Amino acid sequence: MPRIVVVEDDDAIGATLTRSLESHGYVVSWCRTGAEATAAVAEAPPDLVLLDVGLPDIDGLDLCRRLRTQHRDLPIVVVTARDAEIDVVVGLDAGANDYITKPFSTTILLARIRAQLRGAEPADAGAAIEIGRVRVDPAAWTVSVDMQPIDLRPREFQLLLALCRDAGRVITRERLLADVWDLHWESSTKTLDMHVMALRRKFEDAIEIATVRGVGYRLVVP
Ligand code: CA
Repeated sequence: MPRIVVVEDDDAIGATLTRSLESHGYVVSWCRTGAEATAAVAEAPPDLVLLDVGLPDIDGLDLCRRLRTQHRDLPIVVVTARDAEIDVVVGLDAGANDYITKPFSTTILLARIRAQLRGAEPADAGAAIEIGRVRVDPAAWTVSVDMQPIDLRPREFQLLLALCRDAGRVITRERLLADVWDLHWESSTKTLDMHVMALRRKFEDAIEIATVRGVGYRLVVP
């Protein structure tokens, strides 16, 4: 069970976050202040820190910088109500791995957390994935339907792999762009849509990629 330290001084938000993360199998330590969070992380480094920027005792971004200097590989996701670009830049500059702006949907939050935790576990990144009639082998860089190889362009392959790794779950456009194209946030999503169309065309009925309007895509598990 991955352990997440949630740093949030707002009772209602903290309780909601704790409840939904626990219901998705995470072990949650909820801290209401920067001091509590510092102590909790020092006592037992978690798998991820979800950090509210507005804390009563310390600026969340200062805490982020401090945690980053002490724990180089600790995934930190900053939660902020300030979505101005400067805050975003400062958030990433402070050493955060990702950020999410309030109000956010649980689906998107969970997707971001999963992405971070997967980054921390590169061990099975090379394992082949089988979904229905499709087999994707990242190590060999091959993909087949009913054992027949399918010819994909590199980005198409990476996109398919990203969808397969989170099969059945929605993946946000932002994350697909970041994972497959190394672009962040502001990029046009037209490229993404065109690659999804290419995959649908090449795989016909062997895969179903559902569009989740306003959010992203989901590979339907047959
Ligand atoms: Ca707050």
